[in-house]
Formats: sequence, structure tokens, C-alpha cells
Amino acid sequence: DRSTGNYRRVLLKLGGEMFGGGAVGVDPDVVHSVAVQIADVVRDGVQMAVVIGGGNYFRGAELSQRGMDRDRADYMAMLGTVMNSLALQDFLEKEGVPTRVQTAITMGQVAEPYIPRRAERHLEKGRVVIFGAGTGMPYFSTDTAAAQRALEIGCDVVLMAKAVDGVFTADPRSDPGAKLFDEISHREVLERGLKVADATAFSLCMDNNMPIIVFNLLTEGNIARAVSGERIGTLVST
Ligand code: UDP
Repeated sequence: DRSTGNYRRVLLKLGGEMFGGGAVGVDPDVVHSVAVQIADVVRDGVQMAVVIGGGNYFRGAELSQRGMDRDRADYMAMLGTVMNSLALQDFLEKEGVPTRVQTAITMGQVAEPYIPRRAERHLEKGRVVIFGAGTGMPYFSTDTAAAQRALEIGCDVVLMAKAVDGVFTADPRSDPGAKLFDEISHREVLERGLKVADATAFSLCMDNNMPIIVFNLLTEGNIARAVSGERIGTLVST
């Protein structure tokens, strides 16, 4: 049964590619629409933290294939996630939602450093906390940052926003027979070789019983539906 009820504190993970609307940089229409959806949920009293990817700027692994040092390329990519964080902060504040950006790489002029207990305090006060710069460590991903932050600040669930409806038996873009899972366990995701997040992020969630809801961000109102426990997308839990 998926009667999860209302979540009190959630972590929303947004892919960078989506943020860029398929191009390099930030697509104001996408960011605005995400901000409006988040504002709706926060006004209802839900505490929300956000992690945004950086795929709309750089991915370290791709840059290193083209000759760059991997560590430096990963740092460049992490800085890209900070730009996405600032863009979301701007659009959220235009919606009247107080926000704080906390970064895993210190840059005092643009954001607070990542201080978990302070992040919790912001959430309790109704501020949206956006975590930038991933984990601050090369070789990791923003999925892993999302899982780790969700665990450390005590979120009830990770909401993985995608451009597809959830977890399928196969890739729905190439296999028309692919079926959507309504619910699935962490273990079964591994056994079937499905991809919900990268392996490090996924195993962190599995080992610590962190549920993940994979859902389609492109359907208006889906963030609110996911938060309210409505049956959308795929619930991955133990
Ligand atoms: N990255 C990193 N450490 C982190 C988070 C991100 O090195 O903790 C780098 C890495 O190069 C990654 C890039 O930042 O490819 C962008 O993050 P991600 O690929 O997770 O973004 P998304 O695919 O969600 O847009």
C-alpha cells in the first residue's frame, strides 16, 4: 500500500539537464515553473530542501575524456551546480519564498557554507534550503549529495524529479512495451539492474532505508502530489 500520508520534510533532487531546458545555461521558464511548484508546497507547511545537478554546464567525466584532469573537471562541474542553485533561489524569492543556499565548497559572498544543523533550523523556519556544489568531492554525483543530505538533515523521502514517469521495466523511450512500477523495493531495483540513481547514491538510500519517489517533473503539480503522498511515479522503499 502506498498510503504514505503527508511528508513533513523532503529533499527534492532536480537534474541539471532539465534545468537548462536541454541547452547549456539556465532556462528561465523551467526554473520559474519549478519555483512556482515548490512555493505551493512550502506554503502548505512542508519543509523542503533541494539539490540540483550540473549536467546543463559540465560533467567531470565528459571533460576528462576530452583531456582535462578529472578532479579539476569535477570541481568545475560542481561550480555549475552553484549557478543552478542561485538561479532557483532567485526565482523562489520572486515567488515570496525565503531561501538559503548552502554550498559544500565555501564561497561566502554567494552562499552559506554547508552547516547541517543550521540547514535544519532554516527548514523549521519555513525557508527552502538549496544545497549547491554537490558533496564538494570529485568522483561523486549530485544524486549522492541528495541522498547524503536527506539522511543527515532527517528528510522523510528523496523526491527524484525526472523527465519520465518513474521506474520502468526497461527504457520507455526505446522500448514501447516498458511497464511502470508503482512500487518496488531497493533490492529489486538492484536485482533487475534498473537505474534510479547512481550506485553510490542508491546504496546509501538502501542501506539507510531512505525511500525514493521517482516522478515526472514535466507534469504540472507533481511535486505537490508526491509530497502529499498521492500515488504518482514509483515509490522505491524497503
Ligand atoms: N560532481 C562532483 N561531486 C559531487 C557532485 C557533482 O564531482 O559531489 C560533479 C561531477 O563531475 C558531475 C557534475 O558535478 O558529473 C554534475 O553533477 P551530476 O552529474 O550529478 O548532475 P546531473 O546529472 O544531476 O545534472
